[in-house]
Amino acid sequence: MALHIHKYGGTSVGSLDRIRAVAQNVVKQREAGDDVIVVVSAMAGETNRLESLGQELSNKPKNREMDVLLSAGEQVSAALTAMALDQCGCEARSYLGWQVPIVTDANHTRARFESIETKRLKDDLAAGITPIVAGFQGVDGGGDITTIGRGGSDTSAVAIASALNAEECRIYTDVDGVYTADPRIVDDAQKLEVVFFEEMLELASLGSKVLHPRAVEYAANSGVTLRVLSSFIEGQGTLITFEDANMERPVVSGIAHAIDEAKLTVVGVPDVPGVASTILGPIAGASIEVDMIVQNIGSDGTTDFTFTVKRRDYDTAKGILDGIIKDIGARDVIGDNAIVKVSVVGVGMRSHAGVATRMFDALAAEDINIQMISTSEIKISVVIAEQYLDVAVRSIHKVFDLGNNVTVA
Ligand code: ADP
Ligand code: ASP
Ligand code: MG
Repeated sequence: MALHIHKYGGTSVGSLDRIRAVAQNVVKQREAGDDVIVVVSAMAGETNRLESLGQELSNKPKNREMDVLLSAGEQVSAALTAMALDQCGCEARSYLGWQVPIVTDANHTRARFESIETKRLKDDLAAGITPIVAGFQGVDGGGDITTIGRGGSDTSAVAIASALNAEECRIYTDVDGVYTADPRIVDDAQKLEVVFFEEMLELASLGSKVLHPRAVEYAANSGVTLRVLSSFIEGQGTLITFEDANMERPVVSGIAHAIDEAKLTVVGVPDVPGVASTILGPIAGASIEVDMIVQNIGSDGTTDFTFTVKRRDYDTAKGILDGIIKDIGARDVIGDNAIVKVSVVGVGMRSHAGVATRMFDALAAEDINIQMISTSEIKISVVIAEQYLDVAVRSIHKVFDLGNNVTVA
């Protein structure tokens, strides 16, 4: 008898009918002889709704209260899923984070897991009861409710899979696997049978919503087998696995895009040692994450220093830079929060030159200006104006023949 963790996302528990379908899926696996622990997200749109209620009421809601508020979404779906399973004659019991308990640090709204007590879950399984655990939440050492960051239920499921040494952690969502690009943008995107952890980590970190990057990292570090499947249609989904040198791989496995980007340029910075740290020090001090950085020396001997941040941090970052440009002797700060990042990812790139050129050719053919470029061993990212997102992703998808899956390394 194997233990599987099933995680159902917002759309998969988005209505009572959907929750009934989830129950059927769990019953089917139980009837096949396996144990199942279910981890649920809030019903689609619910966490956003709760978040805007908090923000409407208070211009600076305390993170502790936001956690109490946002965690309520998963409480509802966990209880409803347990009821739906009971209705199918399969005894189930819902658990909030503190009841398991899933212990985290006290970093409200972005807590990290510290430990998961497995006794109640194991006792339930031994008694033939299916535990339904609310994702995204935990409890800190002082007994306060915490949440682990938006989109965190994937990571909750992986952490539980790791704590219980489950055979497989199945992420059920509204697509039947990981595709060569977001199927909402590219009609002929192809489902991938297998994606390597290293590629999935890049794809997820570069914006592919289908798996949360922390979940992929956690699974890779703790050896949890991950599979992405549809909660709507049957199939094998996509297996996320460790790299196998014998497996034939395409040069490019997939394309990711991120729409929540913004760019800031400090213009006319004196070209002296220490400037990068003077600019980025206060940004880091405000807990703002910096992604791509480009610095180039102009003909007058000064430097233009450009970097990207998440769009939600744009105003704060701009304010910080406006406050320091005088001190560092720079001329101006200009910004653009209507940019997106498009990336190609694939382990096949390690052994293949010319990938960047093909990507840039595809963008040039569509008259799309590349504003920034960054590369690593298995990815190339470009920043472009947001209005070109769809055209860019489709043309890059085409240039690497990803619709036919024929570009093999
Ligand atoms: P859930 O609510 O189940 O967690 P998400 O909305 O977080 O679901 O993730 C699923 C969505 O991810 C899909 O609907 C799809 O539009 C998007 N997506 C982005 N990139 C990809 C990709 N490469 N493959 C599959 N889906 C992707
Ligand atoms: N409900 C939470 C969110 O929307 C967590 C999740 O769904 O993964 O961010
Ligand atoms: Mg998700």
